[in-house]
Formats: sequence, C-alpha cells, structure tokens
Amino acid sequence: MNHKTISKVIGVSPGVAIGKAFVQRRIEWEFIEQDVSIGLANEELEKLLQGVVRAKLELEQLKRSAGQWMQEEQLAIFNAHSMILSDPVWIQEMQDLILQQHKSAVWAVKETSEAYIMRFREMNDDYMRERAVDVQDIADRLIRVLQGRPEDGYPVFDEPVILVTNELTPSQVAQMDPDNILGIVAATGGENSHAAIMARAMEVPFVVLRQAKGIHRIQTGDLLAIDGGQGQMFRNPAADVLRRMRDLQSAAIRQRDQMRVWVNVPAVTRDGEKWELHANIGSIKELELALRTGADGVGLFRTEFLFMERETLPSEEEQFEIYKEAVQLLKGKPLVIRTIDIGGDKVAPSLMLPKEQNPFLGYRAIRIALDRPDLFRTQLRAILRAGAFGPVKCLLPMISGIDELLRSKEIFAEVKEDLRIQSLLFDVDMQLGIMIELPAAVMQADDLAREADFFSIGTNDLTQYMLAVDRMNEKIAHLFKPIHPAVVRAIAHVAQAAERNQIPISVCGELAGDSTALPLWLGLGIRNLSMTATSILPLKQKLCSSERQSAVAKMPDWLRVRTADELRAQLIEFSMLKGAFER
Ligand code: PEP
Ligand code: MG
Repeated sequence: MNHKTISKVIGVSPGVAIGKAFVQRRIEWEFIEQDVSIGLANEELEKLLQGVVRAKLELEQLKRSAGQWMQEEQLAIFNAHSMILSDPVWIQEMQDLILQQHKSAVWAVKETSEAYIMRFREMNDDYMRERAVDVQDIADRLIRVLQGRPEDGYPVFDEPVILVTNELTPSQVAQMDPDNILGIVAATGGENSHAAIMARAMEVPFVVLRQAKGIHRIQTGDLLAIDGGQGQMFRNPAADVLRRMRDLQSAAIRQRDQMRVWVNVPAVTRDGEKWELHANIGSIKELELALRTGADGVGLFRTEFLFMERETLPSEEEQFEIYKEAVQLLKGKPLVIRTIDIGGDKVAPSLMLPKEQNPFLGYRAIRIALDRPDLFRTQLRAILRAGAFGPVKCLLPMISGIDELLRSKEIFAEVKEDLRIQSLLFDVDMQLGIMIELPAAVMQADDLAREADFFSIGTNDLTQYMLAVDRMNEKIAHLFKPIHPAVVRAIAHVAQAAERNQIPISVCGELAGDSTALPLWLGLGIRNLSMTATSILPLKQKLCSSERQSAVAKMPDWLRVRTADELRAQLIEFSMLKGAFER
C-alpha cells in the first residue's frame, strides 16, 4: 500500500476522522459497442428483463435499509426509480435494439438512456432537467447489474465510512446518517457553503481537496485519516502518521469532554453582563445536539431544509408539528424560526425553480415568499400556531428594503386575522424580525428598525454581498473575510440603528461563533449570538473571562483600522493581552 499526504487540503469542518473511504463516483460508461448473433438475441433480451427485476430488488433493499434514518417522503425516490425501470416505452426501445439490431443488453441500456438523459438536459424546466440525473442513476444501476458487478452504492454501509465525493450538496448532508459517516472529503466547496455549515453542526469532520486529481486517486476501501481543523488528509498512512492522527483524535475528544463542564454555566461576563448564546439549527436532530451543548435557545431555525430532498411541499400541518416539536423540546427557551431561504446553493425540487446565472443574486428567500404568497402564508400559519406553545419569533431572510418588509407585515397581519376567524390557537403578539445581510439593508437600517421588531445580522451573506465574494467559490475563499473593515463598520452601523430605535439585535452568521470576533460584540454591545452548536461552549468559556469596558474603549480604534489582516491581528492581540491580564 502506498501512503500519501495530499497537498492543498482545506479543513471546513473540524475534527479528526480515521476510517475506510467510500468513494461515491459515477461509473463511466466505457465499453465498446457489442453485437450479438441473431440466435442469441432472445437470450440477451431475457438477460435484460432479469436485470430489470434484479435492479428493482436492489432498490427495494436500499429503501428498507435507508428507511432506518430517512423519512417517508425521502424514500419516495426509490419508488420513482423503480417505476422508471418498469417503463414500458423504455423497455420496448431496448427490446427493439436487441431483437432488431442485435445489440447487447448493456448497449441497449446505454443507447436508450443516453437519449433520454440528453432530452431531459435540454429541457427548459429546471425540475425536469434534474431528472436527467435520475435516469443516469437508474441506467448506471442496470448496467452494473447486467455486468454482474456488486452494488457499492451510497448510502448502504457495513461500517461507518469517510465519504469521498466530488461535490457535496446540502441535500446530500441532509440525507446523511451521522452515525454512518465518520468524515467527508470533497473536491469542491468552501467553509461557508451550507454543506460545510451543516457538517459542522453534525460534528462531522470535512476536508476539501483543492486539486481534483487528489480525489481521483482515492479508492473505496483506502484507509483515510483526515483533520478538518488543520486541513490535512492522509491516504493509507504509514504507522507513525496513523499513530499521530489517533493521538490527535483522542486529544480532540478529551478537549470536547472537558468543555462539557461549561454546559450548565450561565453565559455571564466578568463584569456581570448576561448574554444569550443560541444555536443555529436546520432540523430537530440538530436541535437535540444544540440542547446537549447548553444552548440558551435557538436564534436561527433554517426551515428551508424541511423543503429540500423531497418531491412535494410540506403541508401546514407537517410544518406545524415540526415547529411545535422544536418549541416543546426547548421547554420555554426562545426559538427564532426563519421563513424559507431557498435559492443560492439551497435547492428544493418541489418548488421547480428555474436555473439561474447568478443564483445568489436571484430568485431567493423573501423574493420567492412574496412571489408565492400561498407558500408564504402556509408557513406563517404554521409558525404562528407553533407560537401558542412557547416563545417563538418569526424572522425574514434577505430583506433588501422597506417595501419587502411592509408587504410581509401585511401578509403576516392577514394570516393572523384568518387564524383568528378560524378560532385556531396562535401567538397574537408574535414578533416579526428581519435578517440584515444585504448592504442595502445596512444602509437603510434606521428605516427598517422603525418597522421591524428585531434585527438578526447574517454575517455569511453580509460578507458575501459586501465584498462580492461568492461564499461557495473555493478559489476565492481567501477573500471571504467577515472580519473586514467594511463588514465590521456595516455591523457597527446596524448596531447603532438598533440601539437608536430600541429594538433587539443579534448576530447569527458564522462569525458569531468565531471567538476572534468576540471583542467586537463586547465593544458594540451585542449580547445575543446564534451559532453552530459546537461553537457555543468554547465561546462561552472565553466570554466568561471577558469584560466589556476595555473592548468599548478600543472600539473606535478598531472601526478606523484599514485592512482585514490588521483588524484581525489587533483583535487577537487584544484577546491575548486580556487573557494574560486576567490570569
Ligand atoms: C447568513 O447569511 O449569515 C445566515 C445566517 O444565513 P444563511 O447562512 O442561512 O444564508
Ligand atoms: Mg443568509
């Protein structure tokens, strides 16, 4: 076995994972056209028909094992694939190729499916275009069965594995069973992609290999050791490297266990200010994890994940049950539910959204909600009704100006009125707040603060839009700097507007969990942060030994710093000096 360190590795979700690789790679159809003699054509047809039966059996089995962690809706994909496999038109086309043109069964699958794939790819409708992937998947399965090769398809694993894939989509992560995935290696994706954010929330180490070549060398069954904090990956490591990685892994686990003493400690600064450290979640599974890390509440429930990886839209009742379950699990702790932020890198097949040139600048979030009031109203009804069971606030994403907020408020009021007429239980006084994540919203922060009940700053998109740095593009990941003078001055401007208009403010982007930024929140008087659950305890530890006054005194200097690197350096130096002083 050869072992190699693969260079150009970036860590996007911390932690060490050691285990066998499972490579999720498409089989390339590389076989030559093959004719069969006339006498054997019937036999070839029989082979094809038996192959279809076997492929359907595989799908049944896959559905049964995936049923342990996938929801009913998600399992529907296996039925859909099974139906396509039995499609009489397709079977007839393959039969004609075999009986009339004397082609092999494998060739008949390839020829016919390629034609379908092409046709789907050329369709205008985004949803239909995506169906090409399904046909591809089904044809891959059938060809593999006909060639007598065993299934190695994700997501059935005999043992937990490190998943190796070209591109990891948020929906793939949403499907993933964290008990079966030790870690992830992908060829594309940045730290700020939603897939990376979700992997961090699930505590799954994740590295991205900058060189696609690196990923092609990995084979299923290779032993991998990855470090998502340092950005390291070793393939079939030598004994000494493996030992070092195991030590690192044990140290990380020990450190995590030690952190647990902070779970029940309140988040209070040395000078007695009580803070709220909330968690960002995308599912009930993530909420359970957040509660174990002592979150004071949920500052951001990304509800769009309830709309992804399924063919149909979730109904009001379905949404209501999930939101209510979240409220009940929180036992009186606050919950901020954000209305759908679909678009950008988050796709929902049920919405059949068109493909766009610039999805992050396109049909996304509140723009979809206001364009599809049916969808928006259903969600608002479910949120308002869940509010009858505990403290819930409603948050609107990607607000770019006052019109969007005023229109949303009108719809919110109309929905309340409908619920009242129907005598349904709901929270009449529920607060409606907005994400501040667009430069336009920053500039109009005062206007917006007069109309919104609260602000939540989304530093991920704010950085993306202020610096014009695509948060998904790993080529320019080094330019994605939330601690940038422009971004920090924007945040300060928003904090002042919130204070002037006396509305609550919080930060819910990834920067909230970055301990380097803590002096900024101290200096700006922002005491409510919402972050990936795993960041809560380390941040709380630092917060409890901090005090506000010195950061307030330094704030004017930090707001004058001209470069991102200098600002970061000054914040780190401040923390180190304070740390030394306080010890
Ligand atoms: C943000 O943009 O900072 C944010 C919290 O929202 P999301 O990451 O879901 O876009
Ligand atoms: Mg955002």
